[in-house]
Amino acid sequence: MRIDIITVLPEMLEGFTNQSILLRAQKKGLAEIHIHNLRDYTLDKHRRVDDYPYGGFAGMVMQCQPIDACITALTSERHYDEIIFTSPDGDIFDQPTANTLSMCQNIIILCGHYKGIDYRIREHLITKEISIGDYVLTGGEIAAAAITDAVIRLIPGVIGDEQSALSDSFQDGLLAAPIYTRPAEYKGWKVPEILLSGNEAKIKDWEMTQSIERTKRLRPHLLNSDFDNE
Ligand code: SAH
Repeated sequence: MRIDIITVLPEMLEGFTNQSILLRAQKKGLAEIHIHNLRDYTLDKHRRVDDYPYGGFAGMVMQCQPIDACITALTSERHYDEIIFTSPDGDIFDQPTANTLSMCQNIIILCGHYKGIDYRIREHLITKEISIGDYVLTGGEIAAAAITDAVIRLIPGVIGDEQSALSDSFQDGLLAAPIYTRPAEYKGWKVPEILLSGNEAKIKDWEMTQSIERTKRLRPHLLNSDFDNE
């Protein structure tokens, strides 16, 4: 899978995408992440990519020309399954969306800045708008990083123990059960007896009961929604 991220702050994303799981995915040839500096596409001689909004509103707006030039350069090279804009008013990012995106070949993620981007880009070029939550960030980079991380770790082979991605919270519409490691007792705090019993069937039952109980208590909406297991 290939992800192209368009940003005015490439350094912010380069650090993030060259660490840990994302670095490993790229080294293994399972993912390609390309970061594009929007300023490389502006025709403005001072490399500006923003201008004042029509209507006298406060703040600055990212202009059509550099965004269009960058997206057009990418789409003339290959087909993109989605051209995503990160936006607080987009669809809230969740695990089913991450699952769907992880099956794409190529996606573009455009990071907004300032007051946002000229609305015509959203109307004419963007195919999907994603928010990472009901709060406002300064720019789309943190959202792009969150989406990239959540999507790439789902690609088979990226995480060493594949079972580990499948048993994560949300993956089956339920939160994960509590987990423990050695020692079995620390400062008098004990690991649940059942986990030390070696009885696999009982341990599975315990895990499922815990998952359901935690989901009911912490994310009841997951139990009532049609969770889409892609
Ligand atoms: N004026 C805009 C907010 C601009 S914030 C509004 O009221 O909707 C600047 C940029 O940060 C946005 O264009 C977007 O790309 C990014 N951003 C901010 N909050 C975000 C969120 N919750 N999810 C995804 N992207 C976000």
